[in-house]
Amino acid sequence: MKQIYRFNEGNADMKDLLGGKGANLAEMTSLGLPVPAGFTIATTACVQFLKQENYFEQNLKKDILEAIHQLENETGKSFLTNEPILLVSVRSGAKFSMPGMMDTILNLGLNDIKVKAFAKLTDSSFAYDCYRRLIQMFGDVVYGIAKESFDKILAKYEASFSKNATDFSIIEQERVIEAYKDLYYIQQKEFPQDPIEQLFIAIKAVFHSWENPRAKVYRQLHDIPFNLGTAVNIQTMVFGNSGEESATGVAFTRNPATGEKKLFGEFLRNAQGEDVVAGIRTPQPLSELKKLQPNAYTDFIHYAEILESRYRDMQNIEFTIDKGQLFILQTRNGKRTAQAALSIALALVEDKVITKKEALLQVTPTMVEQLIHPVFDPKALEEASLLAEGLPASPGAASGQIVFTAEKAKEFHEKGRKVVLVRQETSPEDIEGMVVSEAIVTSRGGMTSHAAVVARGMGTCCVAGCEALTVNEENLMITCDNQVLTEGDIISVDGSTGRIYQSKLQTVTPISNQKLQLLLSWADEQADLSVRTNAETLQDLTAAIDFGASGIGLARTEHMFFGENRILEMRRLILAEDDQEFEVALQRLLHFQQDDFYHMLEITNEKPMIVRLLDPPMHEFLPKDEQTIAELAASLNKSPTKINKQINQLHETNPMLGHRGCRLGITEARIYQMQVEAIFTSAIQLNQNGYNVKPEIMIPLIAEEKELIEVKRSLLQTIEDLFKKYDVTPFPFEIGTMIELPRACMTADQLAKEADFFSFGTNDLTQMTYGFSRDDIGKFLSIYKEKGILPEDPFQSLDQTGVGQLIQTAVTKARQTKSDMKIGVCGEVGGDPQSIAFFQQIGIDYVSCSAYRIPAARLACAQATLNDCRFAKVTL
Ligand code: ADP
Ligand code: MG
Ligand code: MG
Repeated sequence: MKQIYRFNEGNADMKDLLGGKGANLAEMTSLGLPVPAGFTIATTACVQFLKQENYFEQNLKKDILEAIHQLENETGKSFLTNEPILLVSVRSGAKFSMPGMMDTILNLGLNDIKVKAFAKLTDSSFAYDCYRRLIQMFGDVVYGIAKESFDKILAKYEASFSKNATDFSIIEQERVIEAYKDLYYIQQKEFPQDPIEQLFIAIKAVFHSWENPRAKVYRQLHDIPFNLGTAVNIQTMVFGNSGEESATGVAFTRNPATGEKKLFGEFLRNAQGEDVVAGIRTPQPLSELKKLQPNAYTDFIHYAEILESRYRDMQNIEFTIDKGQLFILQTRNGKRTAQAALSIALALVEDKVITKKEALLQVTPTMVEQLIHPVFDPKALEEASLLAEGLPASPGAASGQIVFTAEKAKEFHEKGRKVVLVRQETSPEDIEGMVVSEAIVTSRGGMTSHAAVVARGMGTCCVAGCEALTVNEENLMITCDNQVLTEGDIISVDGSTGRIYQSKLQTVTPISNQKLQLLLSWADEQADLSVRTNAETLQDLTAAIDFGASGIGLARTEHMFFGENRILEMRRLILAEDDQEFEVALQRLLHFQQDDFYHMLEITNEKPMIVRLLDPPMHEFLPKDEQTIAELAASLNKSPTKINKQINQLHETNPMLGHRGCRLGITEARIYQMQVEAIFTSAIQLNQNGYNVKPEIMIPLIAEEKELIEVKRSLLQTIEDLFKKYDVTPFPFEIGTMIELPRACMTADQLAKEADFFSFGTNDLTQMTYGFSRDDIGKFLSIYKEKGILPEDPFQSLDQTGVGQLIQTAVTKARQTKSDMKIGVCGEVGGDPQSIAFFQQIGIDYVSCSAYRIPAARLACAQATLNDCRFAKVTL
């Protein structure tokens, strides 16, 4: 099997095989861009290599050697022996971009002898700079020798020779190289002098880097499969560190923070590789290249345009200028903030570069979530005291306690504290600490530094390059002018403006965003599933409607009984000793509920509104502590002892499996009747006033058809009586049921005879299917996840193999009885994109989720339709 592809043999569609970097290097080569020659070892080779001993020796070695020979011929240079000297980079590159997560080695091929020849051909400080970098990167990537220990040695020699490394004599340079090699000897390793040996070891190390811990964390975080492997790219070196006419840089074809259509980037003169990203020196903005290197700049603009129109998306381009000559080293679709993703998608549609459907796939539901996320309250900002200002690297607003290391961030986070990670610069090792931080601040580095890129990817707010701050990581201290902050102090970070404030600031959440509304209106046009809301307060309901809810999928009536006056009446009702007392309480509750439903129906009007009748067991409404019991006794004019006794009688061993849901509706029919009376009197009144409401009543916890028949019979009677009492022509309404017990799923065909609609309550269904109590799963979930027993919390993302199968069975059975039955999902997973994709597949009509999850769910529904394999041939 062919495992090695020269850059002129591949193209952009071969990402599976060549990795993203390799496929794009090939594509750029065929587009005629100045890409240094090279070849790619396929991901399949990595997978084999990681599985099979001796794979490298038996299957790869020979082909690699041959490819190197070819490269020598192509470039007219020599890797193995003589001048002119060919040096190469060995670059990792998986199918999905994982910036900085895996490893790359530059300047490969130099050794003690070749460096001398190289120095003669070029200049000695440059040649030794390359050699030092090689030994350092090789030591780091292959043997895990910390980069910093090399830096320390260099600094020490610079101090003792009292000059910069650039001014070292050859003998001084060699002293440093010897000291570098000593770091290898300490670990009983040796820096290999044979270029081929260097190459083989480096390739193996890059293969292995697929399995390094930070790459694993990154994959987990971004849902990248673990079995893909990385490709390895071997590429002729060009040198950004060969003098002041040389540079290395990173650019975006549009602004990755705002989406503005303007080239955006940074470069460092006389520098190489990761220098820009590592934030060692603060880079210059790309616009300055125009003055310094007008030709290279014009070329760059030209290539950037070619690349953006080829990929039809914003590109992130890595380039190097070698003595005035521009080379393109990488391109990929650029990571961007949510705001930028939205602006770019809309702009590309406007320019007719992509279709609306493609635009819907360029923005993720997570980004939509970020777009409705908080900003600092403008009022709070007026009074806030500004500490410093850096680069607005990733938008958002957050406050937290200062920590200086990733470990501390994790430690504080585990204690439930909110943290802001403050560092001079971050590196890939910090990833786990960054994940748990509310915000990230660095004192060095630019908009494309590690901190900035990773934070944007995670949607965490970040201020980078805040040079006014002196971050002393050793003494856990920040100084800024004459102010000093230490670990644990609270700061607020505004990633949209780059400002950092002392103390905690209040945040507010923006609701109206016209661009987002436009995109979501396109989403609604595409989506098969609609999105309703779970809401029982007017505030939630209003927010939900603003966020585009198409109705209420679940109004939980019990929440309406918890207000101060209401809970007393509820308790009076539960503890009533005679009918009269019961009736008094019931009438008062009726008034409260009438008021609730009137206002809710008024807002929803023609939109559907499903009201679920009382669900929890009675004792949930009763007090637990002595004092409240005593107060209740006083208000009800009863003895505390008696009340205690009643409470004890209501106690259940397994309340979630106990006297609740429709079971209550059957034993205490008057409660359900009262609720239905409240709903219908409100509806009658509204409809008389010109509204057009159509109430939908949902009965919880049905397991058996006869339960449904029984409850329905009593409710229909009540409704009929009300229509008579108020002398109105009956208007349409529906009575349906929640499907949340496995038995209900298995008998859905029977239940469908009685129900006008179904709504899956995935919380209870998951609880009842797994036998996991939702309230206790926390005790073992993390261990289950760690051991790989559960991939994720089944209450957050539907268990498609188990619970999902029950749902699918129920849908099929229900539609056998009633082909057009309306079926929804109102559990927590209704807002989860992965679950939504599953609901699309099995033909659910709508999902229902809390207000703030609605915008993301609307996009997820559209994406689910567009990605639905049943319609794979939908033209985008
Ligand atoms: P990453 O995947 O972390 O971005 P890369 O493989 O892109 O790693 O390498 C990092 C940097 O090294 C590149 O951005 C580029 O500046 C430099 N580099 C890689 N290959 C070469 C090369 N052949 N010539 C010059 N610089 C290179
Ligand atoms: Mg790169
Ligand atoms: Mg339930």
